[in-house]
Amino acid sequence: MKLYNTLSRQKEEFKPIQEGVASIYSCGPTVYQYAHIGNMRSYVFMDILRRALKYNGYNLKHVMNITDVGHLVSDADEGEDKMVKTAKQTQKSPLEIAEYYTGVFMKDIAELNIEKPEYIPKATEHIDEMLQFVEELAEKGFAYETSDGIYFDIMKFEGYGKLSRLDLEGQIAGARVDVNEEKRHPADFALWKKAPKEHIMQWPSPWGMGYPGWHIECSAMSRKYLGDVFDIHTGGVDHIPVHHENEIAQSEALLGKPAVHYWLHGEFLLIDNGKMSKSLGNAYTIADIKKEGYSPLAFRYMCLNANYRSKLNFTWEGIKAAQVALDRLFEGVLAHRKAPEGIELEAGLLKRFEEDFKDAVNDDLNIPKALGVAWNAVKHGTKSQDIYGLLLKMDNVLGLDFANIAQKHEDEASELSPEIEELVNIRQQARKDKNWKLADEIRDKLNGMGIQLEDTPEGVKATRK
Ligand code: AMP
Ligand code: ZN
Repeated sequence: MKLYNTLSRQKEEFKPIQEGVASIYSCGPTVYQYAHIGNMRSYVFMDILRRALKYNGYNLKHVMNITDVGHLVSDADEGEDKMVKTAKQTQKSPLEIAEYYTGVFMKDIAELNIEKPEYIPKATEHIDEMLQFVEELAEKGFAYETSDGIYFDIMKFEGYGKLSRLDLEGQIAGARVDVNEEKRHPADFALWKKAPKEHIMQWPSPWGMGYPGWHIECSAMSRKYLGDVFDIHTGGVDHIPVHHENEIAQSEALLGKPAVHYWLHGEFLLIDNGKMSKSLGNAYTIADIKKEGYSPLAFRYMCLNANYRSKLNFTWEGIKAAQVALDRLFEGVLAHRKAPEGIELEAGLLKRFEEDFKDAVNDDLNIPKALGVAWNAVKHGTKSQDIYGLLLKMDNVLGLDFANIAQKHEDEASELSPEIEELVNIRQQARKDKNWKLADEIRDKLNGMGIQLEDTPEGVKATRK
Protein backbone atom coordinates (compact mmCIF):
# COMPACT_ATOMS: atom_id res chain seq x y z
CA MET A 1 0.00 0.00 0.00
CA LYS A 2 1.48 3.35 -1.01
CA LEU A 3 0.72 6.57 0.83
CA TYR A 4 1.90 10.10 0.07
CA ASN A 5 3.98 11.36 2.97
CA THR A 6 3.93 15.16 3.23
CA LEU A 7 7.26 15.01 5.07
CA SER A 8 9.13 13.39 2.16
CA ARG A 9 6.80 14.75 -0.57
CA GLN A 10 6.72 11.22 -1.96
CA LYS A 11 4.50 8.19 -2.16
CA GLU A 12 5.98 5.64 0.22
CA GLU A 13 5.24 1.99 0.86
CA PHE A 14 3.31 1.74 4.12
CA LYS A 15 5.29 -0.28 6.66
CA PRO A 16 3.66 -0.38 10.08
CA ILE A 17 5.63 -0.36 13.32
CA GLN A 18 3.79 -3.40 14.58
CA GLU A 19 2.93 -6.08 12.05
CA GLY A 20 -0.75 -6.16 11.15
CA VAL A 21 -1.61 -3.04 13.14
CA ALA A 22 -1.91 0.55 11.93
CA SER A 23 -1.79 3.29 14.57
CA ILE A 24 -3.30 6.58 13.46
CA TYR A 25 -3.90 9.99 14.99
CA SER A 26 -6.32 12.42 13.33
CA CYS A 27 -6.72 16.02 14.37
CA GLY A 28 -10.36 16.19 15.33
CA PRO A 29 -13.02 18.87 15.49
CA THR A 30 -13.10 22.05 17.53
CA VAL A 31 -16.48 21.95 19.19
CA TYR A 32 -17.62 25.51 19.73
CA GLN A 33 -19.40 25.91 16.39
CA TYR A 34 -21.04 23.79 13.67
CA ALA A 35 -18.61 21.85 11.51
CA HIS A 36 -18.97 22.85 7.85
CA ILE A 37 -18.78 20.59 4.82
CA GLY A 38 -15.10 21.52 4.34
CA ASN A 39 -14.37 20.02 7.76
CA MET A 40 -16.48 17.04 6.75
CA ARG A 41 -14.39 16.47 3.64
CA SER A 42 -11.39 16.06 5.96
CA TYR A 43 -13.20 13.38 7.95
CA VAL A 44 -14.36 11.54 4.82
CA PHE A 45 -10.67 11.39 3.88
CA MET A 46 -9.81 10.10 7.36
CA ASP A 47 -12.53 7.46 6.98
CA ILE A 48 -11.32 6.32 3.56
CA LEU A 49 -7.83 5.86 5.00
CA ARG A 50 -9.28 3.77 7.86
CA ARG A 51 -11.33 1.62 5.55
CA ALA A 52 -8.48 1.16 3.06
CA LEU A 53 -6.17 -0.03 5.83
CA LYS A 54 -8.80 -2.46 7.09
CA TYR A 55 -9.34 -3.69 3.52
CA ASN A 56 -5.63 -4.52 3.50
CA GLY A 57 -6.06 -6.57 6.65
CA TYR A 58 -4.76 -4.16 9.29
CA ASN A 59 -6.24 -3.87 12.73
CA LEU A 60 -6.63 -0.24 13.67
CA LYS A 61 -5.69 1.82 16.66
CA HIS A 62 -7.09 5.17 15.68
CA VAL A 63 -7.39 8.29 17.81
CA MET A 64 -9.34 11.42 16.95
CA ASN A 65 -9.31 14.20 19.54
CA ILE A 66 -12.12 16.54 20.44
CA THR A 67 -10.82 20.07 20.97
CA ASP A 68 -13.11 21.28 23.72
CA VAL A 69 -10.54 23.66 25.18
CA GLY A 70 -11.06 26.82 23.21
CA HIS A 71 -8.14 27.88 21.12
CA LEU A 72 -7.26 31.23 19.75
CA VAL A 73 -8.55 32.75 16.54
CA SER A 74 -5.26 32.31 14.70
CA ASP A 75 -3.14 29.18 14.79
CA ALA A 76 -0.28 31.38 15.91
CA ASP A 77 -1.61 32.12 19.40
CA GLU A 78 -3.25 35.44 18.63
CA GLY A 79 -6.72 36.86 18.93
CA GLU A 80 -9.68 35.87 21.01
CA ASP A 81 -10.35 32.44 22.47
CA LYS A 82 -13.10 30.98 20.26
CA MET A 83 -14.76 28.95 23.00
CA VAL A 84 -14.89 32.02 25.22
CA LYS A 85 -16.44 33.99 22.37
CA THR A 86 -19.23 31.43 21.85
CA ALA A 87 -19.77 31.24 25.62
CA LYS A 88 -20.24 35.01 25.77
CA GLN A 89 -22.61 34.99 22.80
CA THR A 90 -24.75 32.11 24.02
CA GLN A 91 -24.53 32.54 27.80
CA LYS A 92 -23.77 28.82 28.04
CA SER A 93 -20.92 27.13 29.86
CA PRO A 94 -18.00 25.78 27.78
CA LEU A 95 -19.04 22.27 28.81
CA GLU A 96 -22.58 22.75 27.51
CA ILE A 97 -21.29 24.25 24.28
CA ALA A 98 -18.81 21.44 23.73
CA GLU A 99 -21.41 18.78 24.47
CA TYR A 100 -23.91 20.26 22.06
CA TYR A 101 -21.51 20.65 19.13
CA THR A 102 -19.88 17.28 19.77
CA GLY A 103 -23.34 15.71 19.51
CA VAL A 104 -24.06 17.44 16.20
CA PHE A 105 -20.64 16.43 14.88
CA MET A 106 -21.17 12.77 15.81
CA LYS A 107 -24.55 12.76 14.07
CA ASP A 108 -23.04 14.36 10.95
CA ILE A 109 -20.25 11.81 10.69
CA ALA A 110 -22.71 8.95 11.24
CA GLU A 111 -24.86 10.25 8.38
CA LEU A 112 -21.80 10.40 6.16
CA ASN A 113 -21.12 6.78 7.07
CA ILE A 114 -17.79 7.76 8.63
CA GLU A 115 -16.65 5.09 11.06
CA LYS A 116 -15.89 6.18 14.58
CA PRO A 117 -12.21 5.99 15.50
CA GLU A 118 -11.41 3.57 18.34
CA TYR A 119 -10.50 6.41 20.73
CA ILE A 120 -12.15 9.84 20.83
CA PRO A 121 -10.48 11.63 23.75
CA LYS A 122 -11.47 15.09 24.92
CA ALA A 123 -8.79 17.70 25.50
CA THR A 124 -10.33 18.86 28.79
CA GLU A 125 -9.93 15.34 30.20
CA HIS A 126 -6.19 15.25 29.44
CA ILE A 127 -4.87 18.43 31.01
CA ASP A 128 -2.54 16.43 33.30
CA GLU A 129 -0.91 14.66 30.34
CA MET A 130 -0.41 18.02 28.63
CA LEU A 131 1.14 19.58 31.72
CA GLN A 132 3.44 16.60 32.10
CA PHE A 133 4.53 17.06 28.49
CA VAL A 134 5.22 20.78 29.00
CA GLU A 135 7.16 20.10 32.19
CA GLU A 136 9.33 17.52 30.44
CA LEU A 137 10.05 19.97 27.63
CA ALA A 138 10.94 22.66 30.18
CA GLU A 139 13.29 20.24 31.98
CA LYS A 140 14.99 19.48 28.67
CA GLY A 141 15.51 23.19 28.03
CA PHE A 142 13.11 23.63 25.12
CA ALA A 143 10.73 25.98 26.92
CA TYR A 144 10.91 29.43 28.50
CA GLU A 145 8.55 31.47 30.59
CA THR A 146 7.18 34.91 29.71
CA SER A 147 4.69 37.07 31.55
CA ASP A 148 1.77 35.40 29.71
CA GLY A 149 2.83 31.80 29.30
CA ILE A 150 5.35 29.06 28.61
CA TYR A 151 6.72 29.09 25.08
CA PHE A 152 8.53 26.57 22.92
CA ASP A 153 11.94 27.83 21.82
CA ILE A 154 12.08 26.81 18.16
CA MET A 155 15.72 27.81 17.75
CA LYS A 156 16.62 25.00 20.17
CA PHE A 157 15.00 22.45 17.86
CA GLU A 158 17.04 21.82 14.77
CA GLY A 159 14.32 20.41 12.53
CA TYR A 160 11.86 23.27 12.84
CA GLY A 161 10.08 23.87 9.53
CA LYS A 162 10.87 20.53 7.91
CA LEU A 163 7.27 19.51 7.29
CA SER A 164 6.25 22.69 5.51
CA ARG A 165 9.81 23.35 4.30
CA LEU A 166 9.58 26.79 5.79
CA ASP A 167 12.25 29.28 5.05
CA LEU A 168 12.50 30.58 8.59
CA GLU A 169 15.04 33.28 7.86
CA GLY A 170 12.96 34.58 4.96
CA GLN A 171 9.91 34.43 7.17
CA ILE A 172 11.52 36.45 9.91
CA ALA A 173 12.67 39.09 7.45
CA GLY A 174 9.17 39.39 6.06
CA ALA A 175 7.32 39.01 9.32
CA ARG A 176 5.36 41.91 10.70
CA VAL A 177 6.37 43.05 14.15
CA ASP A 178 5.29 40.40 16.59
CA VAL A 179 2.73 41.52 19.13
CA ASN A 180 4.49 39.58 21.83
CA GLU A 181 7.87 41.18 22.36
CA GLU A 182 8.85 38.72 25.04
CA LYS A 183 9.03 35.90 22.52
CA ARG A 184 12.57 34.99 21.47
CA HIS A 185 11.48 34.15 17.93
CA PRO A 186 8.25 35.18 16.20
CA ALA A 187 7.45 31.54 15.45
CA ASP A 188 7.85 30.43 19.08
CA PHE A 189 4.49 29.14 20.23
CA ALA A 190 2.64 28.77 23.50
CA LEU A 191 2.77 25.42 25.26
CA TRP A 192 0.79 26.80 28.18
CA LYS A 193 -0.94 30.15 28.65
CA LYS A 194 -1.39 31.93 31.93
CA ALA A 195 -5.05 32.74 32.40
CA PRO A 196 -6.36 36.16 33.39
CA LYS A 197 -8.85 35.86 36.28
CA GLU A 198 -11.90 36.28 34.06
CA HIS A 199 -10.85 33.50 31.66
CA ILE A 200 -13.57 30.86 31.97
CA MET A 201 -11.50 27.74 31.34
CA GLN A 202 -8.44 27.41 33.54
CA TRP A 203 -6.50 24.77 35.43
CA PRO A 204 -3.77 24.84 38.09
CA SER A 205 -0.20 24.41 36.90
CA PRO A 206 3.34 24.95 38.22
CA TRP A 207 3.05 28.40 36.59
CA GLY A 208 -0.25 29.30 38.23
CA MET A 209 -3.74 29.04 36.75
CA GLY A 210 -3.81 28.66 32.99
CA TYR A 211 -4.81 26.63 29.96
CA PRO A 212 -2.95 24.56 27.37
CA GLY A 213 -1.77 25.69 23.95
CA TRP A 214 -3.56 23.99 21.07
CA HIS A 215 -0.62 22.03 19.67
CA ILE A 216 0.31 20.35 22.95
CA GLU A 217 -3.12 18.74 23.00
CA CYS A 218 -2.38 16.50 20.03
CA SER A 219 1.18 15.66 21.06
CA ALA A 220 0.08 14.68 24.57
CA MET A 221 -2.99 12.68 23.56
CA SER A 222 -1.32 10.79 20.71
CA ARG A 223 1.44 9.81 23.13
CA LYS A 224 -1.05 8.61 25.73
CA TYR A 225 -3.09 6.40 23.38
CA LEU A 226 -0.55 5.35 20.75
CA GLY A 227 2.77 5.53 22.56
CA ASP A 228 5.83 7.64 21.76
CA VAL A 229 6.01 6.58 18.13
CA PHE A 230 3.10 5.74 15.83
CA ASP A 231 2.41 5.17 12.15
CA ILE A 232 0.16 7.82 10.60
CA HIS A 233 -0.94 11.33 11.47
CA THR A 234 -3.71 13.00 9.46
CA GLY A 235 -5.17 16.48 9.18
CA GLY A 236 -6.09 19.14 6.65
CA VAL A 237 -3.45 20.96 4.58
CA ASP A 238 -3.99 24.07 6.70
CA HIS A 239 -2.35 22.19 9.59
CA ILE A 240 0.96 21.74 7.80
CA PRO A 241 2.68 25.10 8.38
CA VAL A 242 1.82 25.75 12.04
CA HIS A 243 -0.07 23.08 13.94
CA HIS A 244 1.77 20.03 12.67
CA GLU A 245 5.10 21.79 12.48
CA ASN A 246 4.66 22.59 16.16
CA GLU A 247 3.53 19.07 17.03
CA ILE A 248 6.70 17.74 15.38
CA ALA A 249 8.84 20.22 17.32
CA GLN A 250 7.28 19.29 20.67
CA SER A 251 7.27 15.52 20.23
CA GLU A 252 10.62 15.23 18.56
CA ALA A 253 12.30 17.55 21.06
CA LEU A 254 11.00 15.36 23.85
CA LEU A 255 11.79 11.98 22.30
CA GLY A 256 14.94 12.77 20.36
CA LYS A 257 13.41 11.00 17.34
CA PRO A 258 10.37 11.42 15.08
CA ALA A 259 7.06 10.43 16.66
CA VAL A 260 5.21 10.00 13.36
CA HIS A 261 6.23 7.92 10.34
CA TYR A 262 3.70 9.11 7.77
CA TRP A 263 2.08 12.55 7.62
CA LEU A 264 -1.06 12.60 5.46
CA HIS A 265 -2.98 15.76 4.61
CA GLY A 266 -6.34 16.26 2.94
CA GLU A 267 -6.79 19.17 0.54
CA PHE A 268 -9.46 21.80 0.98
CA LEU A 269 -13.03 21.96 -0.17
CA LEU A 270 -13.78 25.22 -1.95
CA ILE A 271 -17.20 26.75 -2.44
CA ASP A 272 -17.84 28.23 -5.87
CA ASN A 273 -14.07 28.14 -6.32
CA GLY A 274 -13.43 30.30 -3.28
CA LYS A 275 -12.90 30.10 0.43
CA MET A 276 -15.84 29.26 2.61
CA SER A 277 -16.48 31.52 5.52
CA LYS A 278 -19.16 32.50 7.95
CA SER A 279 -19.10 36.11 6.74
CA LEU A 280 -19.79 35.04 3.14
CA GLY A 281 -22.64 32.86 4.36
CA ASN A 282 -21.30 29.87 2.48
CA ALA A 283 -19.96 27.73 5.30
CA TYR A 284 -22.60 25.12 4.56
CA THR A 285 -23.28 22.25 6.90
CA ILE A 286 -24.62 18.73 6.37
CA ALA A 287 -27.96 20.06 7.67
CA ASP A 288 -27.97 22.64 4.82
CA ILE A 289 -27.36 19.88 2.29
CA LYS A 290 -30.29 17.90 3.67
CA LYS A 291 -32.47 21.00 3.71
CA GLU A 292 -31.90 21.35 -0.03
CA GLY A 293 -33.11 17.80 -0.53
CA TYR A 294 -29.80 16.00 -1.01
CA SER A 295 -28.57 13.07 1.01
CA PRO A 296 -25.39 13.26 3.10
CA LEU A 297 -24.18 10.25 1.12
CA ALA A 298 -24.40 12.34 -2.07
CA PHE A 299 -21.86 14.64 -0.43
CA ARG A 300 -19.73 11.62 0.45
CA TYR A 301 -20.00 10.46 -3.17
CA MET A 302 -18.84 13.91 -4.29
CA CYS A 303 -15.80 13.65 -2.02
CA LEU A 304 -14.95 10.16 -3.31
CA ASN A 305 -14.95 11.49 -6.84
CA ALA A 306 -11.95 13.70 -6.15
CA ASN A 307 -8.51 12.67 -5.02
CA TYR A 308 -7.94 13.66 -1.40
CA ARG A 309 -4.82 15.61 -2.43
CA SER A 310 -6.69 17.75 -4.96
CA LYS A 311 -8.89 20.70 -4.20
CA LEU A 312 -12.57 19.97 -4.60
CA ASN A 313 -15.02 22.63 -5.64
CA PHE A 314 -18.48 22.45 -4.12
CA THR A 315 -21.42 23.89 -6.06
CA TRP A 316 -25.14 23.17 -5.74
CA GLU A 317 -25.04 21.97 -9.36
CA GLY A 318 -22.28 19.57 -8.37
CA ILE A 319 -24.15 18.06 -5.43
CA LYS A 320 -27.22 17.68 -7.63
CA ALA A 321 -25.17 15.75 -10.19
CA ALA A 322 -23.65 13.65 -7.40
CA GLN A 323 -27.12 12.75 -6.11
CA VAL A 324 -28.25 11.68 -9.61
CA ALA A 325 -25.10 9.58 -10.09
CA LEU A 326 -25.44 8.00 -6.66
CA ASP A 327 -29.09 7.09 -7.23
CA ARG A 328 -28.10 5.49 -10.54
CA LEU A 329 -25.31 3.61 -8.83
CA PHE A 330 -27.76 2.28 -6.24
CA GLU A 331 -30.16 1.16 -8.97
CA GLY A 332 -27.31 -0.64 -10.70
CA VAL A 333 -26.28 -2.37 -7.46
CA LEU A 334 -29.89 -3.38 -6.91
CA ALA A 335 -30.09 -4.97 -10.37
CA HIS A 336 -27.23 -7.32 -9.41
CA ARG A 337 -28.79 -8.05 -6.07
CA LYS A 338 -32.04 -9.06 -7.74
CA ALA A 339 -30.33 -11.33 -10.28
CA PRO A 340 -31.17 -15.04 -10.02
CA GLU A 341 -28.69 -17.31 -8.28
CA GLY A 342 -26.09 -19.23 -10.25
CA ILE A 343 -25.65 -16.92 -13.26
CA GLU A 344 -22.37 -17.76 -15.04
CA LEU A 345 -19.80 -15.00 -15.52
CA GLU A 346 -16.83 -15.11 -17.86
CA ALA A 347 -13.73 -16.63 -16.24
CA GLY A 348 -11.48 -14.20 -14.37
CA LEU A 349 -13.93 -11.29 -14.51
CA LEU A 350 -14.46 -10.90 -10.76
CA LYS A 351 -10.77 -11.29 -10.03
CA ARG A 352 -9.93 -8.60 -12.56
CA PHE A 353 -12.41 -6.14 -11.06
CA GLU A 354 -11.15 -6.90 -7.59
CA GLU A 355 -7.51 -6.46 -8.51
CA ASP A 356 -8.11 -3.21 -10.36
CA PHE A 357 -10.05 -1.91 -7.38
CA LYS A 358 -7.36 -2.83 -4.88
CA ASP A 359 -4.58 -1.42 -7.08
CA ALA A 360 -6.38 1.92 -7.20
CA VAL A 361 -7.05 2.00 -3.44
CA ASN A 362 -3.46 1.06 -2.67
CA ASP A 363 -2.05 3.72 -4.97
CA ASP A 364 -2.26 6.45 -2.35
CA LEU A 365 -6.04 6.08 -2.03
CA ASN A 366 -6.95 6.72 -5.65
CA ILE A 367 -10.64 6.49 -4.84
CA PRO A 368 -11.93 8.21 -8.02
CA LYS A 369 -10.29 5.37 -9.95
CA ALA A 370 -11.57 2.72 -7.53
CA LEU A 371 -15.07 4.16 -7.86
CA GLY A 372 -14.68 3.86 -11.64
CA VAL A 373 -13.93 0.14 -11.23
CA ALA A 374 -17.04 -0.25 -9.06
CA TRP A 375 -19.06 1.49 -11.78
CA ASN A 376 -17.66 -0.91 -14.41
CA ALA A 377 -18.76 -3.85 -12.27
CA VAL A 378 -22.20 -2.29 -11.81
CA LYS A 379 -22.59 -1.66 -15.54
CA HIS A 380 -21.50 -5.17 -16.52
CA GLY A 381 -24.07 -6.57 -18.99
CA THR A 382 -24.66 -9.82 -17.10
CA LYS A 383 -26.41 -9.23 -13.79
CA SER A 384 -25.20 -11.56 -11.12
CA GLN A 385 -25.31 -12.17 -7.38
CA ASP A 386 -21.55 -12.69 -7.50
CA ILE A 387 -21.06 -9.13 -8.75
CA TYR A 388 -23.36 -7.96 -5.96
CA GLY A 389 -21.10 -9.76 -3.47
CA LEU A 390 -18.06 -8.09 -4.98
CA LEU A 391 -19.74 -4.68 -4.81
CA LEU A 392 -20.44 -5.18 -1.12
CA LYS A 393 -16.76 -5.92 -0.60
CA MET A 394 -15.79 -2.75 -2.47
CA ASP A 395 -18.26 -0.85 -0.35
CA ASN A 396 -16.18 -1.72 2.71
CA VAL A 397 -13.83 0.95 1.35
CA LEU A 398 -16.28 3.28 -0.40
CA GLY A 399 -18.73 3.34 2.50
CA LEU A 400 -21.72 4.24 0.34
CA ASP A 401 -23.91 1.81 2.27
CA PHE A 402 -24.86 -0.42 -0.69
CA ALA A 403 -26.39 -3.17 1.43
CA ASN A 404 -28.72 -0.94 3.42
CA ILE A 405 -29.72 1.24 0.51
CA ALA A 406 -30.47 -1.74 -1.70
CA GLN A 407 -32.65 -3.20 1.05
CA LYS A 408 -34.46 0.11 1.51
CA HIS A 409 -35.16 0.40 -2.22
CA GLU A 410 -36.56 -3.11 -2.26
CA ASP A 411 -38.76 -2.46 0.77
CA GLU A 412 -40.04 0.77 -0.74
CA ALA A 413 -40.76 -0.93 -4.04
CA SER A 414 -42.69 -3.73 -2.38
CA GLU A 415 -44.70 -1.43 -0.13
CA LEU A 416 -48.20 -0.80 -1.46
CA SER A 417 -49.74 2.60 -1.09
CA PRO A 418 -52.96 2.94 0.96
CA GLU A 419 -54.78 3.79 -2.28
CA ILE A 420 -53.80 0.45 -3.80
CA GLU A 421 -54.69 -1.46 -0.65
CA GLU A 422 -58.10 0.20 -0.70
CA LEU A 423 -58.68 -0.91 -4.32
CA VAL A 424 -57.63 -4.46 -3.46
CA ASN A 425 -60.15 -4.50 -0.60
CA ILE A 426 -62.97 -3.18 -2.77
CA ARG A 427 -62.24 -5.88 -5.32
CA GLN A 428 -62.30 -8.53 -2.58
CA GLN A 429 -65.75 -7.33 -1.54
CA ALA A 430 -66.92 -7.25 -5.18
CA ARG A 431 -65.83 -10.88 -5.59
CA LYS A 432 -67.70 -11.87 -2.42
CA ASP A 433 -70.75 -10.09 -3.84
CA LYS A 434 -70.18 -11.94 -7.09
CA ASN A 435 -69.88 -8.57 -8.83
CA TRP A 436 -67.46 -9.97 -11.41
CA LYS A 437 -67.66 -6.95 -13.63
CA LEU A 438 -66.45 -4.55 -10.91
CA ALA A 439 -63.81 -7.07 -9.77
CA ASP A 440 -62.39 -7.29 -13.31
CA GLU A 441 -62.45 -3.52 -13.75
CA ILE A 442 -60.41 -3.06 -10.60
CA ARG A 443 -58.01 -5.78 -11.64
CA ASP A 444 -57.41 -3.94 -14.96
CA LYS A 445 -56.99 -0.63 -13.17
CA LEU A 446 -54.42 -2.08 -10.79
CA ASN A 447 -52.70 -3.73 -13.72
CA GLY A 448 -52.35 -0.34 -15.30
CA MET A 449 -50.74 0.90 -12.08
CA GLY A 450 -48.14 -1.87 -12.23
CA ILE A 451 -49.78 -4.10 -9.63
CA GLN A 452 -50.28 -7.77 -10.27
CA LEU A 453 -53.01 -9.72 -8.48
CA GLU A 454 -52.93 -13.38 -7.74
CA ASP A 455 -55.96 -15.16 -6.30
CA THR A 456 -54.72 -17.70 -3.76
CA PRO A 457 -56.66 -19.88 -1.27
CA GLU A 458 -55.54 -17.46 1.48
CA GLY A 459 -56.95 -14.53 -0.39
CA VAL A 460 -55.64 -12.15 -2.99
CA LYS A 461 -51.92 -11.38 -3.18
CA ALA A 462 -50.87 -8.05 -4.69
CA THR A 463 -47.28 -7.50 -5.90
CA ARG A 464 -45.45 -4.94 -7.96
CA LYS A 465 -44.63 -6.14 -11.48
P1 AMP B 1 -11.30 22.66 12.82
O1 AMP B 1 -12.49 22.10 13.55
O2 AMP B 1 -11.49 24.06 12.36
O3 AMP B 1 -10.02 22.45 13.56
O4 AMP B 1 -11.17 21.81 11.48
C1 AMP B 1 -11.38 20.44 11.44
C2 AMP B 1 -10.72 19.86 10.21
O5 AMP B 1 -11.25 20.42 9.02
C3 AMP B 1 -9.23 20.11 10.14
O6 AMP B 1 -8.59 18.89 9.80
C4 AMP B 1 -9.07 21.14 9.05
O7 AMP B 1 -7.85 21.00 8.40
C5 AMP B 1 -10.21 20.79 8.15
N1 AMP B 1 -10.72 21.86 7.28
C6 AMP B 1 -11.01 23.16 7.62
N2 AMP B 1 -11.49 23.83 6.55
C7 AMP B 1 -11.52 22.96 5.51
C8 AMP B 1 -11.92 23.04 4.11
N3 AMP B 1 -12.42 24.14 3.58
N4 AMP B 1 -11.80 21.92 3.36
C9 AMP B 1 -11.33 20.77 3.88
N5 AMP B 1 -10.93 20.63 5.17
C10 AMP B 1 -11.03 21.71 5.98
ZN1 ZN C 1 -3.91 18.31 16.04
